[in-house]
Amino acid sequence: MTRRVLLASRNAKKLNELRRILDEAGIAGLEIVGLDDVPEYPEAPETGATFEENALAKARDGAQATGLPCIADDSGIAVDALNGMPGVLSARWAGRHGDDAANNALLLAQLSDVPDDRRGAHFVSACALVLPDGAETVVRGEWPGTIGRAPQGDGGFGYDPLFHPGDGDHSAAQLTPAQKDAASHRGRALAELLPALSRLAD
Ligand code: IMP
Repeated sequence: MTRRVLLASRNAKKLNELRRILDEAGIAGLEIVGLDDVPEYPEAPETGATFEENALAKARDGAQATGLPCIADDSGIAVDALNGMPGVLSARWAGRHGDDAANNALLLAQLSDVPDDRRGAHFVSACALVLPDGAETVVRGEWPGTIGRAPQGDGGFGYDPLFHPGDGDHSAAQLTPAQKDAASHRGRALAELLPALSRLAD
């Protein structure tokens, strides 16, 4: 018998990424459904001070509203020269939620005088799993790198064109989706959730 698990997202890429990770880990018996597959419920705004708080709030809402085990993630980029900002404000750093081009332009302008050896940054993803009985698991994945001096590549989304994984010359927007999944903060966080998910599949 398959057990339905809600991933509190409408993003088809995130849904497929989780399905792929479960497949690769040999975890069968879980059917991952998204917010478009369940009756609509009120989604609280993301107002937490940390990625973990936001992920947990979203997962609690989803489990309570649907009665399904619910996974939720919150992610963003932490820039060393900005003391860890944009952080939880990553999606709306330039003022308008999800305006990637404006967010990237603002970040580049803020770092224009920052020398190469102080352009460190890391992507962060917190993932929470909340079960209908109230059991909670929260994990975190990080992807270290540096911020480039101009956008590069047209894959990915968000800050990918500016983010250079490790100390490489290529941006995250120049990776294939499979290369990005294998290295990224979200891939790492979801991998940490696998033990809890495999218990659910038993
Ligand atoms: P969310 O958690 O998916 O809402 O992402 C929050 C914001 O963080 C996004 O709007 C992006 O600006 C940024 N972000 C999160 N993950 C990534 C990534 O893998 N690449 C680029 N930007 C990301």
